[in-house]
Amino acid sequence: MPGTVLLHPVIDKGIRPGAENFAGGTLLCHCLDNPVKVTVKGQVAHNHACGCTQCWKPEGAIVSIVAVVPTENVTVSANGDKLKLVNPDATIRRHACKVCGVHMHGPVEKDHAFKGLTFVHPELSREDGWQAPQFGAFVSSLIEGGVKPDKMAGIRARFHELGLEPYDCLSPTLMDALAIFAAKKSGVLKE
Ligand SMILES: [Zn+2]
Ligand SMILES: [Zn+2]
Repeated sequence: MPGTVLLHPVIDKGIRPGAENFAGGTLLCHCLDNPVKVTVKGQVAHNHACGCTQCWKPEGAIVSIVAVVPTENVTVSANGDKLKLVNPDATIRRHACKVCGVHMHGPVEKDHAFKGLTFVHPELSREDGWQAPQFGAFVSSLIEGGVKPDKMAGIRARFHELGLEPYDCLSPTLMDALAIFAAKKSGVLKE
């Protein structure tokens, strides 16, 4: 369709629903030789299109597609020696393949609302049935990634067309989780 705003190949042709009782799959980096393999047991949650500047995205995509899964369900199953930590200061400890640069898994290990969850990119697996993207996150940050500000209205319209709400932070559920964590920590919220 001429004039269609391209966001990411996984969603540009429309959003496919996930499969019920999906068993999970194996994420592969882009190396032809000795790819890093990460096995994910079961379905992901909170899958979303992310506009931040930190998440990995494939060539040509302006957003990343990223979801979470309990860290206990994630195993580096081959060639883990090729992984390196992208940024030791980031909350999400993203591990990328040193050769091809693809981010393979990003656990949250510090004291945080998302502790115990790992961020993954379902598109790296050949299995079909991952949860469909649910929303857009950090959409305004696309500007920090180089998108011209006058493109933003069209980008947000495209999100709506796909049925994804383009939030400029995370979804309300995840923002509430962060606030609940902070409120419990400060003592404002008791139970
Ligand atoms: Zn690789
Ligand atoms: Zn992101």
